Amino acid sequence: MVLGTYKQVVTARSTDKQIQKIAQDGGIASALLCFALDEKIIDGAVVAGPSEVMWKPEPTVALTSDEILAAAGTKYTFSPNVWMLKQAVRQYGLEKVGTVAIPCQTMGIRKMQSYPFGVRFLADKIALLVGIFCMENFPYESLRTFISEKAGVDFDLVEKMDIGKGKFWIHTQDQVLTIPLKETHGYEQNGCKVCLDYVSELSDIATGSVGSPDGWSSVFVRTDGGDTIFKQALEAGAIEAKAINEGKFGLEMLTKLSTQKKEKAMKVIDERKAMGLPVPFKASSEKEGDPLANV
Ligand SMILES: Cc1cc2nc3c(=O)[nH]c(=O)nc-3n(C[C@H](O)[C@H](O)[C@H](O)COP(=O)(O)OP(=O)(O)OC[C@H]3O[C@@H](n4cnc5c(N)ncnc54)[C@H](O)[C@@H]3O)c2cc1C
Ligand code: SF4
Repeated sequence: MVLGTYKQVVTARSTDKQIQKIAQDGGIASALLCFALDEKIIDGAVVAGPSEVMWKPEPTVALTSDEILAAAGTKYTFSPNVWMLKQAVRQYGLEKVGTVAIPCQTMGIRKMQSYPFGVRFLADKIALLVGIFCMENFPYESLRTFISEKAGVDFDLVEKMDIGKGKFWIHTQDQVLTIPLKETHGYEQNGCKVCLDYVSELSDIATGSVGSPDGWSSVFVRTDGGDTIFKQALEAGAIEAKAINEGKFGLEMLTKLSTQKKEKAMKVIDERKAMGLPVPFKASSEKEGDPLANV
């Protein structure tokens, strides 16, 4: 179960040419939120919108498709979207909220729904949780530093960033630069070292680039609600899907990366436990003999 539970897994993309152009991968996150908004399945969405500071996302309540699309593309630093959910309901009066969340945020939202201390009014208003895959994340200053120092490029000229094939890719208007991922180690957020979820296992629909060709996304349809929305979006022609590659770059690669992430994090968790430090999960490889037994 290293990829969580799911009803189906496919390779998919938005059919909208504008979304294809601005999206990080297949534009599944933007396409599903826009579709859900058009169909009134949600009445707004919390997304990682732009801010005045280059590449520093700001959690934003998007009430229109244009506002959803303004948030397209991956920003490799924190966007505390969960914090904005309360305001989406309290200040914006939303009854059916959509959101995009990396795995730790997905866990936070599900925990909040299961133990709604102080947020009971919010728990049943999450209508669509699109999870995105995440191997690691960077504090803003870390990101800025390693991009300008290791790639020797002016951070303000960066137009797109991506992680893939063992490298951190940086696109400017006229060049594409890469930094080997082993050189970005040390710059990541400390908390990511104990993170056991790669593919947003608790989301309604999870999506990411690994496992699919460029311009397409790998998609896990997980919950009944997610399944209904995904099918409706397919039928309406908002998205298109095909079988995921079963070979080296399909599920096999996702399984490998997810297993590696869990095993590495479990080691750190056990080390921290041995030192008497608090850890975020009860799971222990010592007890079970199997590092993934409780994951
Ligand atoms: C920190 C980070 C690490 C990632 N690591 C991997 C990985 O290892 N493997 C992999 O396959 N995919 C990874 N992804 C996911 C991938 O980069 C794309 O976000 C995903 O495939 C969705 O692409 P899309 O074309 O469907 O989304 P788009 O249609 O381009 O929309 C992107 C959506 O993501 C949201 N978003 C952007 N940045 C953030 C952020 N920092 N926090 C929360 N939400 C955000 C925006 O609100 C937007 O709605 C990572 C994403 C992040 C943010
Ligand atoms: S690795 Fe885990 S803790 Fe770090 S940002 Fe990604 S989901 Fe969150």
